[in-house]
Amino acid sequence: MRDFTDADDYEQGMEHIDPEIMTRVLGRASDYNPEDYSDRDVLDAISSDNVGEDSFGALLSPAAEPFLERIAIRAREETMKHFGNSVNIFTPLYASNYCTNRCVYCGFNSGNDIKRAKLVGNEIDREMNAISSTGLREILLLTGESRAHSDPDYIADLVSRASKYFSNIGLEVYPMNIGEYRKMREMGADYVTVFQETYDTDVYRRVHPSGRKRIFSYRFNAQERALMGGMRGVGFSPLLGLSDFRKDSFACGLHAMEIQRKYPHAEISFSLPRFRPFINHEDAENSVTESKLLQVAMAYRLFMPFAAETISTRERPGFRDNIVGICATKMSAGVSVGIGEHSGAEKGDAQFDISDPRSLEEVMNALIANGRQPVFNDYVKV
Ligand code: SF4
Repeated sequence: MRDFTDADDYEQGMEHIDPEIMTRVLGRASDYNPEDYSDRDVLDAISSDNVGEDSFGALLSPAAEPFLERIAIRAREETMKHFGNSVNIFTPLYASNYCTNRCVYCGFNSGNDIKRAKLVGNEIDREMNAISSTGLREILLLTGESRAHSDPDYIADLVSRASKYFSNIGLEVYPMNIGEYRKMREMGADYVTVFQETYDTDVYRRVHPSGRKRIFSYRFNAQERALMGGMRGVGFSPLLGLSDFRKDSFACGLHAMEIQRKYPHAEISFSLPRFRPFINHEDAENSVTESKLLQVAMAYRLFMPFAAETISTRERPGFRDNIVGICATKMSAGVSVGIGEHSGAEKGDAQFDISDPRSLEEVMNALIANGRQPVFNDYVKV
């Protein structure tokens, strides 16, 4: 069995960069045992002005569960200090659901019998126009991971069209090489999010039985390649519940911190997806409860107080409205996950079910009623 951190494992065309950060993160994460922490460790972490790696581990541990209220007070203070009461609003655009990977937890996997489609030409503009007419200024462009159906030129075209309608453009597509990220940046992309899914290399191997996504190291180094290609921001996340969510969150925090240290200008963000029922698998179990999800989000906030945190419509409205008052700083709204749904011309199936079907206006009204300030754009391109 080849080692997933071995450069020889790369497939043709995958760019290899120095695996220094990956080696450090995986080494420290494998030494992390969430059971090792005591009440005292958690209380020390809560009162610390500078939460280091060990305190971060304590905040993610089972020992922290009785102290969530106290952690929430600290998390709220840090969020107010760095972000005030603002909450950035964006919406995702699912442009294609073709995928060549076989992730066992995903409805888009290439072995799944779903209606496949991708937006082309005027359909793309129609969707973007429908979204921008609601007032939104930030868009996250998503495709399934198929270089055949959504090659870099296709994605560059999506970005270029999006730049006519939006001020802030994110990408959640397959990992790319530095030059490809540079091209996306030149077309107008601002940030790149790549979910690692799990930092447990054994589980990773098991749940990714085929496709380019099997190459753990190429995926792990995507954020670094994106920054080398000139992106201003990068996002991180495991899919919580795929493996031990505490260990995965610990590894993810270290990964983001290492990138921040090496690229101090990078805008860092975390996402908080947890395992949900998905198309053709309505019964997917989820051991990560809302309070555990909140615990992870608060630990990220205290470890990296300046990092953005995104809460998606996978979560129910009440939970979303509360978590933005504590530690999340960014939320999606007015979400349609089918291909072509925004303009009322759905042509392809959705990846998962959403739990917050509220309109943009309803989400905004709820935020304002809770004393928060919805923000559509906080960035000016010069
Ligand atoms: S998680 Fe992503 S890469 Fe995996 S099957 Fe789904 S769309 Fe494809």
